[in-house]
Amino acid sequence: MAEIHSVGVGGGEAIIEEAGQLPVTALKGVGSRMQQRLARLEIVTVRDLLFHLPVRYQDRTRQVPLGELHPGMVVSVEGEVQHTEVKFGRRRMLLSSISDGSGTLTLRFFHFAAALKSSLARGVRIRCFGEVREGVNALEMIHPEYQLLAQRDPAEVPHYLTPVYRVTEGVYQPVLRALMAQALEYLRRGAVAEWLPEELLGRFGLPSLEQALALVHRPPADTPLEQLELWHHPAQLRLSFEELLAHHLSLRMLRRTMQRCGAPLLKGRGQLTASFLEGLPFSLTAAQQRVWEEVRRDLEKDLPMLRLVQGDVGSGKTVVAALAALQAVEAGFQAALMVPTELLAEQHYRNIGSWLEPLGVEVVWLSGQLKGAEKKGVCESISAGRARLAVGTHALFQEGVVFRELGLVIIDEQHRFGVHQRLALYEKGRVGGTRPHQLIMTATPIPRTLAMTAYADLDVSVIDQLPPGRTPVTTVALPDSRRDEVIRRIGDACRDGRQAYWVCTLVEESERLAAQAAEKTAALLAETLPQLSIGLVHGRMKSLERAATMEAFKSGDIDLLVATTVIEVGVDVPNASLMIIENPERLGLAQLHQLRGRVGRGSRESSCVLMYHGVLSEAARQRLAVLRESSDGFVVAQRDLELRGPGEVLGTRQTGMLQFRVAALPRDQGLLSDVAEAAAFLLDRYPHRVAPLMERWVGERSQYGGV
Ligand code: ADP
Ligand code: MG
Repeated sequence: MAEIHSVGVGGGEAIIEEAGQLPVTALKGVGSRMQQRLARLEIVTVRDLLFHLPVRYQDRTRQVPLGELHPGMVVSVEGEVQHTEVKFGRRRMLLSSISDGSGTLTLRFFHFAAALKSSLARGVRIRCFGEVREGVNALEMIHPEYQLLAQRDPAEVPHYLTPVYRVTEGVYQPVLRALMAQALEYLRRGAVAEWLPEELLGRFGLPSLEQALALVHRPPADTPLEQLELWHHPAQLRLSFEELLAHHLSLRMLRRTMQRCGAPLLKGRGQLTASFLEGLPFSLTAAQQRVWEEVRRDLEKDLPMLRLVQGDVGSGKTVVAALAALQAVEAGFQAALMVPTELLAEQHYRNIGSWLEPLGVEVVWLSGQLKGAEKKGVCESISAGRARLAVGTHALFQEGVVFRELGLVIIDEQHRFGVHQRLALYEKGRVGGTRPHQLIMTATPIPRTLAMTAYADLDVSVIDQLPPGRTPVTTVALPDSRRDEVIRRIGDACRDGRQAYWVCTLVEESERLAAQAAEKTAALLAETLPQLSIGLVHGRMKSLERAATMEAFKSGDIDLLVATTVIEVGVDVPNASLMIIENPERLGLAQLHQLRGRVGRGSRESSCVLMYHGVLSEAARQRLAVLRESSDGFVVAQRDLELRGPGEVLGTRQTGMLQFRVAALPRDQGLLSDVAEAAAFLLDRYPHRVAPLMERWVGERSQYGGV
């Protein structure tokens, strides 16, 4: 039984304390120096140590006969020394050949003490562990770990697979293994509580936590190594399951917290939205229509909407956002639209503004670059309630911005924001007991796996259809040795009345360096293509200047726009039909797909040239091939997830979201639907186990608690 006792904390809530939460200094041999070193591995408590899982295993439980060796095997072998000599070549080295009757193996040492030569005398029995390589004349091991064996006694053999841990300076394998032995002793005495009820374990065929931890640190000799390496062992799955469950629960709790308060009922007579739709030069696609219905139904409830709208680049998410904003306005509330970049804020301000202002709806743009009186004016119109829609970056939730009656928060390109930023804006809209509705839009599709994990707090709507008349973009990858040819092609296209983007990318996300590169490129292109009108936009420009350039590009006064990746999102110039992306190998797939989505918006045949530098690595070649082969954002996103992992796909690597300790996606995606089911079961039947589970896995990193 677990050694658990309740400790009262302020507020009357009981927190369960486990013996496993003892600091590592409770272990023999851990003083303050070792404690600091362990902290570098994020091991603070005994429990943390137990959750520091092996990254792989070595099989030292059996000795492979020398005759069965082949290159690449990492094995333990035993033999009798036949012959040992020191060779003097370019480097001094010690060679020793051993045999076991079935075959021979050469041991090669470059660093050795003189004593080694004499201890490896003919007839000595030795056990070695290492990787087998192809030698000059025979198979060999370079610097194997070795152990001299007594002549007669059977040598002791470990009866479990040897775990290999992630280490840090001063904490190497033997130390970790020794500490783990002590931690496992704590585990055996019940130091880590089991929060998953029997019914759940039985239903999903999972071992207990104690069994699982004991197994992963000490897999019995007959555990299939391959199963462990693929993370298919039930013990490993059990641990991933628990972590995914904790994350899922934390999002479900966030949802509950947010929905605990009411929301304003955003119901109007539908006049504004109707006149808006009439004024549009197109009609909604069936998918837009359906998603708008879903959003509208949410807004008409007095519970805060928490909805994610997904759709491929160009599927027309902005129109849905505008409709939602109008619905809020008509019901007498304000709406806020938050976007990740100044450029996108400008674009939305101008587009949506031009849609809404004819309807008598005042739209303001709160730019981070606004200063003094101008900024004060905008803030005043927001707090006085004259501004009905405010568009901006995170400047929207800075101090000094107070909404009079915020009913709806729309967040575009959500993946760029952390959960806490979303919460901040949500808190801002607090009026009495109510909170604003939230509509979250993603730039590119999110694979289902990630949507289920990262957005478990949200309802999801998908715009799974593009407006009619789009022609897919033809994508080619070319080496930059063909730059001249590409430049000629731009010249021809622009003479033909087409417009083009030239995108400069950099390895580091330094907008300063990127801006310099773009300036240089623009100057060079202007020299080569004097007949074209060339514009430049980057993140370091004054927003007015940038806005003027974008306007000129949109109206056709600029033929070729040289830009950094600031144009990645939101920019909408349908006549642009050619895009060159320099060094695409530096960007992620989703980002490239998003960039490419700037063309192919008109009826014209569009193309995108991925102009790479030097020789592509195999991984880069694979990634670019995905783009050449598919123009479907859902397919691209799924491949991106497989090739690069979730942190990159969601752009949340820095925010720490989805940084799992033991689970990994897409590896563990097969568990997700069971996880969702288990979460519902736990919330329903064992609600008091939810908090300690979240504490264990999400802990301090949780942005979700205490909202
Ligand atoms: P995204 O989903 O990438 O944000 P946008 O909202 O920017 O896409 O829309 C892309 C372009 O498609 C815009 O020019 C927009 O006006 C246009 N558009 C949106 N909906 C439709 C539609 N139903 N029919 C035709 N064009 C549309
Ligand atoms: Mg958009």
